[in-house]
Amino acid sequence: MSKFVFVTGGVVSSLGKGITVASLGRLLKSRGLRVNVLKLDPYLNVDPGTMSPFQHGEVFVTEDGGQTDLDLGHYERFIDTNLTKKSNVSTGQIYETIISQERRGEFLGGTVQVIPHVTNEIKNRILAGSVDGEVDVVLVEIGGTVGDIESLPFLEAIRQLRMDIGKESCLYVHVTLIPYIAAAQELKTKPTQHSVKELRSIGIQPDVIVCRSERELTDDLRAKIALFCDIEERAVIPNVDAKSIYEVPLSLARFGLDEIVLERLNLQAGPADLSDWIELIESIQKVSGQVDIGIVGKYVSLPDSYLSVVEALRHAGFALGKDIEMHWIDAEQLETGNLDPLAQLDGIVVPGGFGVRGVEGKIKAVQYARENNIPFFGIALGMQCAVMEFARNVAGLPDAGSIEFGHDSSPVISFMPGQPEIIGLGGSMRLGTFPCVLTEGSRSFEAYQQSVIHERHRHRYELNNGYRELLVESGLQLSGLSPDGELVEVVELPNHPWFVGTQFHPEFKSRPTRPHPLFVSFVKAAISQRER
Ligand code: GLN
Repeated sequence: MSKFVFVTGGVVSSLGKGITVASLGRLLKSRGLRVNVLKLDPYLNVDPGTMSPFQHGEVFVTEDGGQTDLDLGHYERFIDTNLTKKSNVSTGQIYETIISQERRGEFLGGTVQVIPHVTNEIKNRILAGSVDGEVDVVLVEIGGTVGDIESLPFLEAIRQLRMDIGKESCLYVHVTLIPYIAAAQELKTKPTQHSVKELRSIGIQPDVIVCRSERELTDDLRAKIALFCDIEERAVIPNVDAKSIYEVPLSLARFGLDEIVLERLNLQAGPADLSDWIELIESIQKVSGQVDIGIVGKYVSLPDSYLSVVEALRHAGFALGKDIEMHWIDAEQLETGNLDPLAQLDGIVVPGGFGVRGVEGKIKAVQYARENNIPFFGIALGMQCAVMEFARNVAGLPDAGSIEFGHDSSPVISFMPGQPEIIGLGGSMRLGTFPCVLTEGSRSFEAYQQSVIHERHRHRYELNNGYRELLVESGLQLSGLSPDGELVEVVELPNHPWFVGTQFHPEFKSRPTRPHPLFVSFVKAAISQRER
C-alpha cells in the first residue's frame, strides 16, 4: 500500500511549492523509495494546452503527450523520472469525466453533487497515483492557495482520504510565506497562523509547515509557529531563498524534512545517497566566466514561459563550468529593423511558440545568426522560422512562410497529410515522444552520439516535403527524419559554426545531473564563439 503526502500552499501563490515537492521527491528517491508525483490544478481548463503562457507559464509536455503544468517539469528534473499525463489532474478533467458518466446514465437517477461525486472522482485520480501499489510514496501537490473557492473540493477530497486509507498513510505539508517587514525589521508569522487556521476549519491539521522566507528563521520564530499551529518545532522547516533552486533539496534535508516524512508515515528506508546531487551543487558553485545567450520570443516578459529551455541551458552551463547570462529579446521589437539587442551575443535561441506575433522578428534573428556565424538553436517554431528564413534569403523564395500564418504562396511550413487533424484546439496536435533518425556525421549526430533518438513534440505544422529538394540543393541539411522518412525533424547548416533547428522540444528531457546533448553542444559552440 502506497503512502500519500499532500502539499498545500498558504498566504500567497508563487511560493515555489512545486520546487518543495520536487525536492522532497528527490530526497525520498535518494533513500531508495519509489516515488510518484501528482499535481492537482483547480482550474476548469481540461489541460493547460490551451492556456496562454502569459497567464500560466510554459506548457510542459510528457513522454505520452500530456500537456501539463510546468511544475511537472520541476518534478522530472529533480526526481529524474518520466511522468505521464495522469500526473496532472484539473477540475476540468474531473467534471468532463463526471458529466459524460451522467449523460450515459451511470448515476442511475441520482443527483450528481460536489460531495460525493466530484470528491470521489478526485480521490480515484489520487489513488491511481499509487500505480497499483508499485509506488512507495505518492506526492500530491494541490495547486492554488488555501482559501480559494476553486480548490475546496480538492481539499475536501484529501481530508476524506485520511479516513479512507488511514492516518498512518497520509501526511499533510503546508507551504507558507513568512514575510519580512523592513520597517519593523522582523519576520512575521501571522499570515501563516491565519492560513493554518483556514486549513483547520476545513478539517486538515498540517503535520509539517515549510516556511518560505527571504531571511533565516530564528529558533524562537520556529517555536512560535509550532505553538500557534500545533505542530512539533522540528516540523517547522525553514526554506530560505537560495541562489539556485537546485540547492533546495539539500537545505530541506539539513532540517530533516525527509526524516520526519518517513517517521510519520512509518516507512523504512536507508540513508539518503545524495552524492550526485552534492556533486551537482559543487559544479554549480564552481562556474566561472559567463556566456551571453539571447532568447528571442513573444513571451519574454514572463520568462516562466520558457522555463524548460532556460533550465536546459543552465544544465549545460553547469556541465561546462559557465554561468549562462540570459538576454530576453522581444521578437516584435526586432521587427523595426533595429538589431542592436543581438550584438555581443555568444548564441541565439529561438524557442517554440504559436501565432504570428513576432514571427518576422524571429526570422530577422535567424538571418542575423546565419550571416554573422553566431551559434543558433531553433526549437519547434524556432526551427520553422529558420526554414522560412533560409527559403526566403538563400533558396530564392522571397514569399516563403507558414500555413499557420496564412501564407499560401510558398508554404515551406505546412500541414502534412497523415498528421493529427485539426479538431478544435485542445489536444489535437502531434504530441509526445516520437523517434527520429539522425544523419551520421551531422552536428546533431555528433552531439547525441547515436542515430536513433526519441524526443517530445508539440506542434501542428511540419516542414513541407514539396520544398525539400530545393532547400537541400540550396545547402540546408535535413539531418533528422522520422523513421519512415516522411517528416523532417532536424535541419542544420553544415557551413556554419553551429546552426541547428529541431521540430521537437529537446528541453523537456534535460536534467541537471544529465544535461541534454544538444544543449551542451550548443553552449560549447557559444563558448568558442566568445573566445573568438
Ligand atoms: N506553432 C507551430 C506549430 O504548431 C510550432 C509549435 C511549437 O513551437 N511548439 O507547428
